[in-house]
Amino acid sequence: MRRAIGVTTAERIATAVVEGDQVIGTLRLYPEEGMAADELMGMPAEHVAHTIREQIEAVLQGTAIDVVGVGIPGIVRNGVIEESPNLQQLKGCRMQELLSSELREAGIEAPIRLYNDADIVAAGLAARRGQLDRRIRVWTLGHGIGFGVYPFADGIWEGGHTVVSLDPGEKYCGCGGVGHLEGIMGHRAMRLRFLDMEPDEVFEGARNGEQRCVDFVKLWHRALAAATASSIHMAGPGKFFLTGNHARHVDLNLLNQHLHDMVKMSPLQGYVFEIVPGDEEIAVVGAAVNAIRTVFPEESQDAQ
Ligand SMILES: [Zn+2]
Repeated sequence: MRRAIGVTTAERIATAVVEGDQVIGTLRLYPEEGMAADELMGMPAEHVAHTIREQIEAVLQGTAIDVVGVGIPGIVRNGVIEESPNLQQLKGCRMQELLSSELREAGIEAPIRLYNDADIVAAGLAARRGQLDRRIRVWTLGHGIGFGVYPFADGIWEGGHTVVSLDPGEKYCGCGGVGHLEGIMGHRAMRLRFLDMEPDEVFEGARNGEQRCVDFVKLWHRALAAATASSIHMAGPGKFFLTGNHARHVDLNLLNQHLHDMVKMSPLQGYVFEIVPGDEEIAVVGAAVNAIRTVFPEESQDAQ
């Protein structure tokens, strides 16, 4: 069976050796618990690449691997980070080349493939559930809002920036665009909207009946329903996973009610939401699975 290194860099760098759909050994985290959580935010691209190399060397400890898969937030195509609203210093970076030369220096010759960080969550969920033959969509509700699809398909897929409001005052998205889903649901956007409250306190306030929090939580659910309805109207119904730090705030009844109001055509009714714990292990497994399937396509077909 192929062995791979899986890496995700969503809010911190998580790295592990992966075989099949399992992490072998320990999942390594950078920065570690207790260190500054936003360390990655201002780190230059070369430094990010070097840090990923150090993490890979630390988990490898001499193990032979076939391929390395890395997830990065933003528009990632052909090894280049074309845009990354939440790690802006990486925009335009040829990260695959940077990482290749870092790994060569370390004596690691395996090919490297880069993916969007939400796409690898979708791949990890597919692998963990034995559903590598199905189409999966996932919303990752964290610092930003990610939209991941499996199987990997060339394209942009920036579903987190779906326009869900025509109100010109909705301008909190990390990319600067007006009316975006992330501008309502993202952690950063919620902090900008409620300058005096942390996002968790806003959801708490809604449970206690505080009106502006109640109104916002309704908007938050309607925004997710609207973006999902757009995906359904473009690509059809199916399974939508919800994961990430803020998935715990989702009220599925409320979400389904709003979506029911937005999707009326009968062939589009077969949609299902499922909330899944968004641990980094799933993303790391997905990065490895995607890389193996990209580099060794014949073998992955045999495996189905
Ligand atoms: Zn945006």
